[in-house]
Amino acid sequence: MNTIAIVGGGPIGLALGVGLVRKGLKVELLEKRSSISTFPKASTIHPPTLEILDEWGLFEKAKKIGRVVDRIQYWNRKTEELIVELQLNLLRDYTKFPYRLHFDQQFLSQIFLEALQKSPLATVKFETEVVDVHHDSHSVTLTTKETDGKITQQSFDYLVAADGISSSVREKLGISFTGHTNPAYHLLMGLKEYEISNRFPNLAGVAMFLDNDEWVDMITNPDMLKVIIPISHDRTEEITNEFIRNKMTEIGIVKDGFDIYYKTIYKTHQLVADRMNDGRVVLIGDAAHVNIEFGGMGMNSGIHDAYLLVDKFERIKQGGDAEQHFKQFAERRMKINKEVVQRDTIKNTQLIKDIDTHEKQLRQLADNEALAKKHLLRTSMIEGFNMMFEDMNFNR
Ligand SMILES: Cc1cc2nc3c(=O)[nH]c(=O)nc-3n(C[C@H](O)[C@H](O)[C@H](O)COP(=O)(O)OP(=O)(O)OC[C@H]3O[C@@H](n4cnc5c(N)ncnc54)[C@H](O)[C@@H]3O)c2cc1C
Repeated sequence: MNTIAIVGGGPIGLALGVGLVRKGLKVELLEKRSSISTFPKASTIHPPTLEILDEWGLFEKAKKIGRVVDRIQYWNRKTEELIVELQLNLLRDYTKFPYRLHFDQQFLSQIFLEALQKSPLATVKFETEVVDVHHDSHSVTLTTKETDGKITQQSFDYLVAADGISSSVREKLGISFTGHTNPAYHLLMGLKEYEISNRFPNLAGVAMFLDNDEWVDMITNPDMLKVIIPISHDRTEEITNEFIRNKMTEIGIVKDGFDIYYKTIYKTHQLVADRMNDGRVVLIGDAAHVNIEFGGMGMNSGIHDAYLLVDKFERIKQGGDAEQHFKQFAERRMKINKEVVQRDTIKNTQLIKDIDTHEKQLRQLADNEALAKKHLLRTSMIEGFNMMFEDMNFNR
Protein backbone atom coordinates (compact mmCIF):
# COMPACT_ATOMS: atom_id res chain seq x y z
CA MET A 1 0.00 0.00 0.00
CA ASN A 2 1.28 3.50 -0.85
CA THR A 3 0.57 6.68 1.08
CA ILE A 4 -2.77 7.35 2.79
CA ALA A 5 -3.85 11.00 2.63
CA ILE A 6 -5.49 12.59 5.67
CA VAL A 7 -7.27 15.92 5.26
CA GLY A 8 -7.45 17.92 8.50
CA GLY A 9 -4.96 18.46 11.32
CA GLY A 10 -7.53 18.61 14.12
CA PRO A 11 -7.27 16.07 16.95
CA ILE A 12 -8.89 13.33 14.86
CA GLY A 13 -6.77 13.58 11.71
CA LEU A 14 -3.64 13.74 13.87
CA ALA A 15 -4.75 10.77 16.00
CA LEU A 16 -5.35 8.69 12.88
CA GLY A 17 -1.91 9.61 11.55
CA VAL A 18 -0.28 8.44 14.80
CA GLY A 19 -2.20 5.15 14.74
CA LEU A 20 -1.31 4.45 11.10
CA VAL A 21 2.43 5.13 11.32
CA ARG A 22 2.58 2.86 14.39
CA LYS A 23 1.38 0.07 12.08
CA GLY A 24 4.06 0.89 9.50
CA LEU A 25 1.73 2.74 7.10
CA LYS A 26 2.79 5.89 5.25
CA VAL A 27 0.64 9.00 5.68
CA GLU A 28 0.48 12.53 4.34
CA LEU A 29 -1.57 14.94 6.44
CA LEU A 30 -2.81 18.17 4.87
CA GLU A 31 -4.00 21.06 7.05
CA LYS A 32 -5.12 24.44 5.76
CA ARG A 33 -4.24 26.36 8.93
CA SER A 34 -0.67 27.45 9.66
CA SER A 35 -0.68 25.68 13.04
CA ILE A 36 -2.88 23.69 15.42
CA SER A 37 -6.13 25.42 16.40
CA THR A 38 -6.12 26.86 19.93
CA PHE A 39 -9.89 27.46 19.98
CA PRO A 40 -11.21 26.13 23.33
CA LYS A 41 -13.49 23.17 22.68
CA ALA A 42 -13.02 19.63 24.02
CA SER A 43 -11.37 19.10 27.37
CA THR A 44 -12.67 15.73 28.58
CA ILE A 45 -10.74 12.55 27.80
CA HIS A 46 -12.75 9.48 28.75
CA PRO A 47 -11.36 6.10 29.96
CA PRO A 48 -11.48 4.26 26.57
CA THR A 49 -9.54 7.10 24.94
CA LEU A 50 -6.99 6.94 27.77
CA GLU A 51 -6.60 3.23 26.95
CA ILE A 52 -5.86 4.15 23.32
CA LEU A 53 -3.31 6.77 24.41
CA ASP A 54 -1.72 4.14 26.65
CA GLU A 55 -1.49 1.62 23.80
CA TRP A 56 0.09 4.30 21.60
CA GLY A 57 2.66 5.21 24.30
CA LEU A 58 1.22 8.70 24.84
CA PHE A 59 -0.67 8.29 28.11
CA GLU A 60 2.11 9.51 30.43
CA LYS A 61 2.52 12.72 28.40
CA ALA A 62 -1.20 13.37 28.63
CA LYS A 63 -1.35 12.60 32.34
CA LYS A 64 1.47 15.06 33.04
CA ILE A 65 -0.53 17.98 31.67
CA GLY A 66 -4.06 16.84 32.54
CA ARG A 67 -6.20 17.06 35.65
CA VAL A 68 -7.39 13.69 36.95
CA VAL A 69 -11.15 13.83 37.54
CA ASP A 70 -12.43 10.98 39.69
CA ARG A 71 -15.85 12.33 40.76
CA ILE A 72 -18.94 13.69 39.02
CA GLN A 73 -21.51 15.77 40.85
CA TYR A 74 -25.11 16.68 40.09
CA TRP A 75 -26.49 19.67 41.97
CA ASN A 76 -29.83 21.41 42.28
CA ARG A 77 -28.91 24.92 41.14
CA LYS A 78 -31.75 26.73 42.91
CA THR A 79 -31.40 25.07 46.31
CA GLU A 80 -27.63 24.53 45.92
CA GLU A 81 -28.12 21.04 47.29
CA LEU A 82 -25.82 18.25 46.09
CA ILE A 83 -28.16 15.66 44.55
CA VAL A 84 -25.56 12.93 44.07
CA GLU A 85 -21.82 12.47 43.75
CA LEU A 86 -20.54 9.49 41.76
CA GLN A 87 -17.05 8.03 42.10
CA LEU A 88 -15.54 6.97 38.79
CA ASN A 89 -13.56 4.35 40.69
CA LEU A 90 -16.75 2.26 40.49
CA LEU A 91 -15.50 1.51 36.96
CA ARG A 92 -12.26 -0.12 38.16
CA ASP A 93 -13.33 -3.61 37.02
CA TYR A 94 -14.11 -2.33 33.52
CA THR A 95 -11.10 -0.16 32.65
CA LYS A 96 -7.46 0.37 33.56
CA PHE A 97 -8.28 4.08 33.88
CA PRO A 98 -11.33 4.64 36.11
CA TYR A 99 -11.18 8.43 35.77
CA ARG A 100 -11.25 11.22 33.18
CA LEU A 101 -8.40 13.51 32.26
CA HIS A 102 -9.23 17.16 31.66
CA PHE A 103 -7.16 19.51 29.50
CA ASP A 104 -7.78 21.57 26.37
CA GLN A 105 -7.87 19.70 23.07
CA GLN A 106 -5.10 21.82 21.55
CA PHE A 107 -2.64 20.10 23.93
CA LEU A 108 -3.81 16.66 22.85
CA SER A 109 -3.42 17.72 19.20
CA GLN A 110 0.10 18.89 20.08
CA ILE A 111 0.95 15.50 21.62
CA PHE A 112 -0.30 13.74 18.47
CA LEU A 113 1.51 16.17 16.17
CA GLU A 114 4.84 15.68 17.96
CA ALA A 115 4.47 11.89 17.76
CA LEU A 116 3.60 12.10 14.08
CA GLN A 117 6.43 14.43 13.15
CA LYS A 118 8.92 12.04 14.76
CA SER A 119 7.96 9.28 12.33
CA PRO A 120 9.82 8.93 9.02
CA LEU A 121 6.56 7.52 7.60
CA ALA A 122 4.67 10.80 8.08
CA THR A 123 4.58 14.01 6.06
CA VAL A 124 2.65 16.87 7.68
CA LYS A 125 1.87 19.89 5.51
CA PHE A 126 0.33 23.01 7.08
CA GLU A 127 -1.02 25.90 4.97
CA THR A 128 -2.25 23.34 2.43
CA GLU A 129 -5.95 23.38 1.68
CA VAL A 130 -7.67 20.57 -0.19
CA VAL A 131 -9.87 22.29 -2.78
CA ASP A 132 -10.97 19.36 -4.93
CA VAL A 133 -11.28 15.57 -4.75
CA HIS A 134 -11.76 12.90 -7.41
CA HIS A 135 -11.67 9.20 -6.87
CA ASP A 136 -12.08 6.07 -8.93
CA SER A 137 -11.51 2.38 -8.34
CA HIS A 138 -7.69 2.82 -8.46
CA SER A 139 -6.84 6.02 -6.58
CA VAL A 140 -7.90 9.34 -5.08
CA THR A 141 -6.66 12.59 -6.63
CA LEU A 142 -6.52 15.71 -4.51
CA THR A 143 -6.12 19.27 -5.68
CA THR A 144 -4.44 21.39 -3.01
CA LYS A 145 -3.86 25.10 -2.70
CA GLU A 146 -1.04 26.52 -0.60
CA THR A 147 -1.17 29.98 1.00
CA ASP A 148 1.05 31.43 -1.73
CA GLY A 149 -1.62 30.34 -4.26
CA LYS A 150 0.33 27.34 -5.61
CA ILE A 151 -2.05 24.65 -6.91
CA THR A 152 -0.90 21.01 -6.92
CA GLN A 153 -2.50 17.71 -7.88
CA GLN A 154 -1.46 14.51 -6.18
CA SER A 155 -2.77 10.94 -6.18
CA PHE A 156 -3.05 8.63 -3.18
CA ASP A 157 -4.25 5.10 -2.58
CA TYR A 158 -6.83 6.18 0.00
CA LEU A 159 -8.14 9.38 1.55
CA VAL A 160 -9.47 9.94 5.07
CA ALA A 161 -11.45 13.13 5.55
CA ALA A 162 -11.02 14.51 9.09
CA ASP A 163 -11.77 18.05 8.02
CA GLY A 164 -14.38 18.89 10.62
CA ILE A 165 -18.02 19.93 10.71
CA SER A 166 -17.83 21.92 7.44
CA SER A 167 -15.93 19.13 5.64
CA SER A 168 -15.28 20.15 2.05
CA VAL A 169 -14.45 16.54 1.13
CA ARG A 170 -17.91 15.49 2.30
CA GLU A 171 -19.42 18.31 0.26
CA LYS A 172 -17.38 17.53 -2.89
CA LEU A 173 -18.51 13.90 -2.72
CA GLY A 174 -22.15 14.96 -2.36
CA ILE A 175 -22.58 13.21 1.00
CA SER A 176 -25.42 14.82 2.91
CA PHE A 177 -25.07 15.86 6.55
CA THR A 178 -28.38 15.97 8.26
CA GLY A 179 -29.93 16.14 11.70
CA HIS A 180 -30.80 18.82 14.13
CA THR A 181 -29.37 22.19 15.16
CA ASN A 182 -30.70 23.34 18.51
CA PRO A 183 -32.25 26.80 18.52
CA ALA A 184 -30.63 27.66 21.89
CA TYR A 185 -27.21 29.27 22.30
CA HIS A 186 -24.62 28.32 24.89
CA LEU A 187 -22.05 30.64 26.41
CA LEU A 188 -18.71 29.03 27.27
CA MET A 189 -16.43 30.93 29.63
CA GLY A 190 -12.92 30.18 30.77
CA LEU A 191 -12.58 31.55 34.29
CA LYS A 192 -9.68 31.84 36.66
CA GLU A 193 -11.64 31.43 39.84
CA TYR A 194 -10.84 32.08 43.46
CA GLU A 195 -14.31 32.34 44.99
CA ILE A 196 -16.28 29.50 43.43
CA SER A 197 -14.28 26.85 45.29
CA ASN A 198 -14.97 28.69 48.56
CA ARG A 199 -18.69 28.57 47.92
CA PHE A 200 -18.59 24.93 46.80
CA PRO A 201 -15.57 23.61 48.76
CA ASN A 202 -15.76 20.04 47.53
CA LEU A 203 -16.56 20.80 43.91
CA ALA A 204 -15.86 17.83 41.59
CA GLY A 205 -14.07 18.19 38.25
CA VAL A 206 -17.46 17.76 36.57
CA ALA A 207 -20.31 19.56 38.33
CA MET A 208 -23.67 19.88 36.62
CA PHE A 209 -26.11 22.31 38.25
CA LEU A 210 -29.55 21.22 37.08
CA ASP A 211 -32.30 23.74 36.46
CA ASN A 212 -35.15 24.05 33.98
CA ASP A 213 -33.99 27.51 32.85
CA GLU A 214 -30.66 28.61 34.25
CA TRP A 215 -28.62 25.39 34.34
CA VAL A 216 -24.84 25.61 34.76
CA ASP A 217 -22.20 23.09 33.64
CA MET A 218 -18.77 23.39 35.30
CA ILE A 219 -15.68 21.57 34.10
CA THR A 220 -12.41 22.01 35.93
CA ASN A 221 -9.30 22.09 33.77
CA PRO A 222 -5.75 22.22 35.19
CA ASP A 223 -5.50 25.98 34.78
CA MET A 224 -9.06 27.24 34.71
CA LEU A 225 -12.72 26.54 35.31
CA LYS A 226 -14.85 26.14 32.18
CA VAL A 227 -18.42 27.26 32.76
CA ILE A 228 -21.24 26.77 30.26
CA ILE A 229 -24.63 28.46 30.64
CA PRO A 230 -27.59 28.98 28.29
CA ILE A 231 -27.91 32.33 26.58
CA SER A 232 -30.71 33.77 24.48
CA HIS A 233 -28.71 35.23 21.56
CA ASP A 234 -25.35 35.22 19.80
CA ARG A 235 -24.58 38.94 19.95
CA THR A 236 -21.00 38.52 21.13
CA GLU A 237 -20.52 42.27 21.53
CA GLU A 238 -23.14 42.28 24.33
CA ILE A 239 -21.28 39.62 26.34
CA THR A 240 -19.06 42.04 28.18
CA ASN A 241 -17.20 41.18 31.38
CA GLU A 242 -19.84 43.18 33.27
CA PHE A 243 -22.61 41.12 31.64
CA ILE A 244 -20.88 37.90 32.76
CA ARG A 245 -20.40 39.14 36.34
CA ASN A 246 -24.07 40.18 36.53
CA LYS A 247 -25.18 36.87 35.08
CA MET A 248 -23.06 34.81 37.48
CA THR A 249 -24.47 36.83 40.38
CA GLU A 250 -28.04 36.45 39.11
CA ILE A 251 -27.75 32.68 38.88
CA GLY A 252 -26.25 32.59 42.34
CA ILE A 253 -22.98 30.84 41.51
CA VAL A 254 -20.65 33.64 42.59
CA LYS A 255 -20.94 37.33 43.05
CA ASP A 256 -17.35 38.09 42.25
CA GLY A 257 -13.99 36.52 42.69
CA PHE A 258 -13.01 35.37 39.23
CA ASP A 259 -11.13 36.60 36.19
CA ILE A 260 -12.42 35.98 32.69
CA TYR A 261 -9.91 34.39 30.30
CA TYR A 262 -12.20 33.91 27.35
CA LYS A 263 -15.85 33.70 26.34
CA THR A 264 -17.49 32.28 23.27
CA ILE A 265 -21.08 31.67 22.12
CA TYR A 266 -22.03 28.65 20.05
CA LYS A 267 -24.95 26.56 18.85
CA THR A 268 -25.13 22.82 19.35
CA HIS A 269 -25.89 20.18 16.74
CA GLN A 270 -26.72 16.52 16.25
CA LEU A 271 -25.67 15.86 12.68
CA VAL A 272 -24.58 12.73 10.81
CA ALA A 273 -23.25 12.08 7.32
CA ASP A 274 -25.46 9.74 5.30
CA ARG A 275 -22.37 7.50 4.88
CA MET A 276 -18.87 7.34 6.33
CA ASN A 277 -17.36 5.65 3.28
CA ASP A 278 -17.44 6.27 -0.45
CA GLY A 279 -15.11 4.04 -2.46
CA ARG A 280 -11.53 4.85 -1.43
CA VAL A 281 -12.60 7.72 0.83
CA VAL A 282 -13.51 7.40 4.54
CA LEU A 283 -14.96 10.16 6.76
CA ILE A 284 -14.14 10.34 10.47
CA GLY A 285 -14.58 12.72 13.44
CA ASP A 286 -16.74 15.83 13.08
CA ALA A 287 -16.70 15.40 9.29
CA ALA A 288 -18.88 12.32 9.86
CA HIS A 289 -20.84 13.10 13.04
CA VAL A 290 -21.31 16.03 15.41
CA ASN A 291 -22.91 15.75 18.84
CA ILE A 292 -24.07 18.13 21.53
CA GLU A 293 -21.10 18.87 23.79
CA PHE A 294 -22.74 17.68 27.05
CA GLY A 295 -20.81 14.69 28.29
CA GLY A 296 -17.74 15.58 26.22
CA MET A 297 -18.10 12.84 23.63
CA GLY A 298 -17.42 14.41 20.20
CA MET A 299 -13.64 14.33 20.13
CA ASN A 300 -13.48 11.03 22.02
CA SER A 301 -15.86 9.50 19.52
CA GLY A 302 -13.68 10.69 16.62
CA ILE A 303 -10.59 9.15 18.23
CA HIS A 304 -12.53 5.87 18.52
CA ASP A 305 -13.27 6.14 14.77
CA ALA A 306 -9.55 6.56 14.16
CA TYR A 307 -8.69 3.59 16.39
CA LEU A 308 -10.97 1.20 14.50
CA LEU A 309 -9.90 2.55 11.11
CA VAL A 310 -6.22 1.93 11.91
CA ASP A 311 -7.07 -1.75 12.40
CA LYS A 312 -8.94 -1.82 9.10
CA PHE A 313 -6.04 -0.25 7.18
CA GLU A 314 -3.66 -2.75 8.75
CA ARG A 315 -5.82 -5.61 7.46
CA ILE A 316 -6.03 -4.02 4.00
CA LYS A 317 -2.23 -3.72 3.98
CA GLN A 318 -2.07 -7.45 4.78
CA GLY A 319 -4.17 -8.19 1.69
CA GLY A 320 -7.69 -7.78 3.09
CA ASP A 321 -10.54 -6.55 0.94
CA ALA A 322 -10.73 -2.74 1.31
CA GLU A 323 -14.38 -2.50 0.31
CA GLN A 324 -15.42 -5.05 2.95
CA HIS A 325 -13.28 -3.51 5.69
CA PHE A 326 -14.46 0.04 5.02
CA LYS A 327 -18.06 -1.17 4.89
CA GLN A 328 -17.72 -2.91 8.25
CA PHE A 329 -15.98 0.13 9.74
CA ALA A 330 -18.64 2.56 8.52
CA GLU A 331 -21.56 0.40 9.64
CA ARG A 332 -20.15 -0.18 13.11
CA ARG A 333 -19.13 3.39 13.84
CA MET A 334 -22.39 4.81 12.48
CA LYS A 335 -24.39 2.36 14.58
CA ILE A 336 -22.49 3.38 17.73
CA ASN A 337 -22.89 7.05 16.90
CA LYS A 338 -26.63 6.80 16.34
CA GLU A 339 -27.52 4.27 19.03
CA VAL A 340 -25.11 5.25 21.79
CA VAL A 341 -23.34 8.61 21.38
CA GLN A 342 -26.39 10.51 20.13
CA ARG A 343 -28.63 8.84 22.69
CA ASP A 344 -26.23 9.69 25.55
CA THR A 345 -25.49 13.28 24.54
CA ILE A 346 -29.23 13.93 24.16
CA LYS A 347 -29.82 12.31 27.58
CA ASN A 348 -27.14 14.51 29.15
CA THR A 349 -28.75 17.59 27.63
CA GLN A 350 -32.20 16.67 28.90
CA LEU A 351 -30.80 15.84 32.31
CA ILE A 352 -29.24 19.24 33.03
CA LYS A 353 -32.28 21.14 31.67
CA ASP A 354 -35.07 19.17 33.30
CA ILE A 355 -34.62 18.87 37.01
CA ASP A 356 -38.24 17.85 37.66
CA THR A 357 -37.80 14.58 35.79
CA HIS A 358 -34.21 13.81 36.70
CA GLU A 359 -33.62 14.74 40.33
CA LYS A 360 -35.42 11.65 41.63
CA GLN A 361 -33.64 9.36 39.15
CA LEU A 362 -30.26 10.76 40.11
CA ARG A 363 -30.96 10.30 43.83
CA GLN A 364 -31.53 6.58 43.17
CA LEU A 365 -27.94 6.31 41.93
CA ALA A 366 -26.66 7.21 45.39
CA ASP A 367 -28.25 4.11 46.96
CA ASN A 368 -27.90 1.63 44.14
CA GLU A 369 -24.37 0.72 43.08
CA ALA A 370 -25.51 -1.34 40.08
CA LEU A 371 -27.49 1.61 38.72
CA ALA A 372 -24.60 3.99 39.39
CA LYS A 373 -22.20 1.69 37.50
CA LYS A 374 -24.61 1.50 34.55
CA HIS A 375 -24.84 5.29 34.49
CA LEU A 376 -21.05 5.65 34.60
CA LEU A 377 -20.41 2.99 31.94
CA ARG A 378 -22.65 5.01 29.64
CA THR A 379 -21.37 8.48 30.51
CA SER A 380 -17.73 7.34 30.39
CA MET A 381 -18.24 5.94 26.85
CA ILE A 382 -17.19 2.42 27.90
CA GLU A 383 -20.46 0.88 26.75
CA GLY A 384 -20.16 2.29 23.21
CA PHE A 385 -16.43 1.54 22.98
CA ASN A 386 -16.95 -2.11 23.87
CA MET A 387 -19.75 -2.39 21.29
CA MET A 388 -17.14 -1.55 18.67
CA PHE A 389 -15.47 -4.96 19.03
CA GLU A 390 -18.56 -7.17 19.35
CA ASP A 391 -18.40 -10.05 16.84
CA MET A 392 -15.42 -8.39 15.21
CA ASN A 393 -11.96 -9.79 14.67
CA PHE A 394 -9.80 -7.01 16.11
CA ASN A 395 -6.03 -6.68 16.72
CA ARG A 396 -5.83 -5.20 20.24
C1 LIG B 1 -17.77 24.05 23.28
C2 LIG B 1 -17.38 22.67 22.88
C3 LIG B 1 -16.95 21.79 23.85
C4 LIG B 1 -16.59 20.49 23.49
N1 LIG B 1 -16.18 19.63 24.46
C5 LIG B 1 -15.85 18.37 24.15
C6 LIG B 1 -15.34 17.47 25.14
O1 LIG B 1 -15.17 17.80 26.31
N2 LIG B 1 -15.01 16.20 24.75
C7 LIG B 1 -15.14 15.79 23.45
O2 LIG B 1 -14.85 14.62 23.17
N3 LIG B 1 -15.57 16.64 22.48
C8 LIG B 1 -15.92 17.91 22.78
N4 LIG B 1 -16.31 18.77 21.80
C9 LIG B 1 -16.28 18.34 20.38
C10 LIG B 1 -14.84 18.41 19.80
O3 LIG B 1 -14.30 19.68 19.99
C11 LIG B 1 -14.85 18.02 18.33
O4 LIG B 1 -15.53 16.79 18.21
C12 LIG B 1 -13.43 17.89 17.74
O5 LIG B 1 -12.79 19.14 17.62
C13 LIG B 1 -13.49 17.27 16.35
O6 LIG B 1 -12.19 17.16 15.84
P1 LIG B 1 -11.94 16.98 14.29
O7 LIG B 1 -10.46 16.78 14.15
O8 LIG B 1 -12.87 15.98 13.72
O9 LIG B 1 -12.39 18.37 13.65
P2 LIG B 1 -11.75 19.81 13.86
O10 LIG B 1 -11.23 19.96 15.22
O11 LIG B 1 -12.76 20.78 13.36
O12 LIG B 1 -10.49 19.80 12.87
C14 LIG B 1 -10.65 19.81 11.46
C15 LIG B 1 -9.38 20.38 10.83
O13 LIG B 1 -9.48 20.27 9.42
C16 LIG B 1 -8.96 21.45 8.82
N5 LIG B 1 -9.56 21.58 7.49
C17 LIG B 1 -10.87 21.82 7.21
N6 LIG B 1 -11.06 21.84 5.87
C18 LIG B 1 -9.85 21.60 5.29
C19 LIG B 1 -9.41 21.50 3.93
N7 LIG B 1 -10.25 21.63 2.91
N8 LIG B 1 -8.11 21.27 3.72
C20 LIG B 1 -7.22 21.11 4.76
N9 LIG B 1 -7.59 21.21 6.06
C21 LIG B 1 -8.89 21.44 6.32
C22 LIG B 1 -9.37 22.54 9.79
O14 LIG B 1 -8.55 23.69 9.65
C23 LIG B 1 -9.18 21.85 11.15
O15 LIG B 1 -7.87 22.03 11.66
C24 LIG B 1 -16.68 20.08 22.12
C25 LIG B 1 -17.10 20.98 21.15
C26 LIG B 1 -17.47 22.26 21.52
C27 LIG B 1 -17.94 23.22 20.45
